Amino acid sequence: MRYLLLILLASQGLTACSPAPQEHRDTLYVFGTLVEVTQWGVNDTEAAKTLKSIETDLNFMHEAYHAWKPGSLGRVNSLLSTTSRFTANTSLLDLIAESKDLSHKSDGLFNPAIGKLIGLWGFHQDEMPLGPPPTLIAISTLLDKHPSMADIRIDGFYMQSRNPAVQLDLGAIAKGYALDKITEGLATEGRSNLIINAGGNLKVLGTHGDRPWRIAIRHPRNNGVLAALDTQSGEAVVTSGDYERFFDYRGKRYHHIIDPRSGYPSTGTMSVTVVDKNGALADAASTALFIAGAKDWQRIARQMGVTQVLLMSSDGTVYVTPALKDRLTFTTPPARLIVSATE
Ligand code: AMP
Ligand code: MG
Repeated sequence: MRYLLLILLASQGLTACSPAPQEHRDTLYVFGTLVEVTQWGVNDTEAAKTLKSIETDLNFMHEAYHAWKPGSLGRVNSLLSTTSRFTANTSLLDLIAESKDLSHKSDGLFNPAIGKLIGLWGFHQDEMPLGPPPTLIAISTLLDKHPSMADIRIDGFYMQSRNPAVQLDLGAIAKGYALDKITEGLATEGRSNLIINAGGNLKVLGTHGDRPWRIAIRHPRNNGVLAALDTQSGEAVVTSGDYERFFDYRGKRYHHIIDPRSGYPSTGTMSVTVVDKNGALADAASTALFIAGAKDWQRIARQMGVTQVLLMSSDGTVYVTPALKDRLTFTTPPARLIVSATE
């Protein structure tokens, strides 16, 4: 089972304590992951109602955005490969349009058009693949077709791909986008003090009583906490890590974040956390900055418009922007900490 990437902390300290009476904590298994919902200051009936609506919406979006099971995206993918014009559901059109824009801003490092490549690596199944990794020839055959979000044209209700090799995998943005929409809906209904943690994607509404919701950023290797953060209402905290989905084959780790330039799992980074009020942006950026790595993350962050970033490279160095560093309490002091602005 995949780990919960961000651990919700119940108290100001770093050890979870038993829930206070005003707190409801529940776990769902939806969107292919464990989803932890914590609500503050509501009675049992209200808490159950909110939980049910979150579960229903997540299930709906999971069906709509799933990369390999039949559903709305499956239909879109088969129509994209025909290169003819077709109509699509507006909720998907909106997400695909946002993905196109973010892919462009990331210089194509966030590239949801490489669905075939991700499938080739074996990540289009619920179980972890066992390997072996695909052959170089199979990878280059797909890369040579240059699937890109720029191949997709959106015109009102219509969309079309000029490249039959384009197959969408929205796994790097869909959860961030879904949590944005769900929390927007909950806020309009006046349900305002809760936190949803969907395996590495977290979104916060309101506060935990008279203090902010405090969350923990997971250390990518030791299963413990790297740093704690007091969140603000409406913020998303999104982490991409090489420990989320991977397989080991003959002593080498092959994980699920694929560098679209090489066709192989990206090397040099262990995890990236991005904090932003726009969860879809934070999600796409966490994946893109993971691939950009220690050398290029600042430039891509600037282009994508994110200012609160933490990146841990494979040698254990932590790179952090001043805007995020000032808000963090490190529990495991990093061996090397480099504070660098994106502006
Ligand atoms: P995340 O955990 O948000 O970084 O998303 C990782 C997921 O996004 C993977 O499991 C794939 O489904 C998909 N993915 C992998 N590499 C890329 C990429 N370069 N661009 C867009 N999506 C990707
Ligand atoms: Mg992402």
